[in-house]
Amino acid sequence: MYNFNFQSASSLDDAAAKLGAAEDGTVIAGGQTLLPVLKQRLANPSDVVDLSGIAELKGISAGADGVTIGAMVTHAEVAGSSDVPAALRALAEGIGDPQVRNRGTLGGSIANNDPAADYPAALLGLGATITTNQREIAADDFFTGLFETALNDGEIIKSVTFPNATKAAYAKFPSPASRYAMVGVFVAQAADGVRVAVTGATECAHRGPNLEAALSANWSPDAVDGVTIPVDRMNSDIHAGAEYRAHLVVVMAKRAVAAAG
Ligand SMILES: Cc1cc2nc3c(=O)[nH]c(=O)nc-3n(C[C@H](O)[C@H](O)[C@H](O)COP(=O)(O)OP(=O)(O)OC[C@H]3O[C@@H](n4cnc5c(N)ncnc54)[C@H](O)[C@@H]3O)c2cc1C
Repeated sequence: MYNFNFQSASSLDDAAAKLGAAEDGTVIAGGQTLLPVLKQRLANPSDVVDLSGIAELKGISAGADGVTIGAMVTHAEVAGSSDVPAALRALAEGIGDPQVRNRGTLGGSIANNDPAADYPAALLGLGATITTNQREIAADDFFTGLFETALNDGEIIKSVTFPNATKAAYAKFPSPASRYAMVGVFVAQAADGVRVAVTGATECAHRGPNLEAALSANWSPDAVDGVTIPVDRMNSDIHAGAEYRAHLVVVMAKRAVAAAG
């Protein structure tokens, strides 16, 4: 690990000010990704600003239109909250292991945008809105590429608002080692129609227009049969080849629709 200045922020404004004053600063949430990156000397920030003392980034609040979850809320807190819809609770419960769920955060997960992360599928599948210290960003515009998001340098995620859906469920085929998604599919009957989001399959989570068209015409697991999943975009690695991942997209979509009812 290279040396850096460690700073604790007391508010969102304080964190932004500390980042702004740093030569090359970054924020830390639960450290589940950032700490290994620092330990392996893959990053060399001048300053690391800790978000864990910021009350504005914590808490879960449910309203008539949906639920808002603070960026520093852990996966374990989401999994255990009765204010959170069942599909989202189950997704959080399926992340990693208890240690990861007790430290890992919603904000850290989506800022990192790992291609196999679970939350990006839920944000896209429910049509969520990300609130930062600068603006609101629709989930459809947020995940831009491999470990890339629409966040500007120094922009900090404050919370995510998930609108209510009539039906929703997530199904994933987990890596046996990490439980990251080999492929995960989130399906929803959302306010703006049927949404399907796929994670683990390509460079980052994405909507599945072919699946959305099929399920808009007929909301049933059988409707997914015969939907063409483009193999050329699929990841291929030691865990699974592209054709296998394309097959998993269909299987996970069917399971998710069956679970959503
Ligand atoms: C063994 C293991 C297994 C895992 N399994 C899964 C799994 O099955 N499914 C899954 O989805 N994930 C999995 N994860 C990822 C984990 O759930 C965390 O969400 C992820 O590692 C991010 O960790 P963190 O929240 O502690 O953020 P950190 O590591 O602290 O930060 C990650 C990145 O996000 C940035 N960041 C953090 N918070 C904010 C914010 N509020 N605004 C802007 N930028 C921010 C940081 O600067 C950093 O670049 C696993 C991780 C491990 C180590």
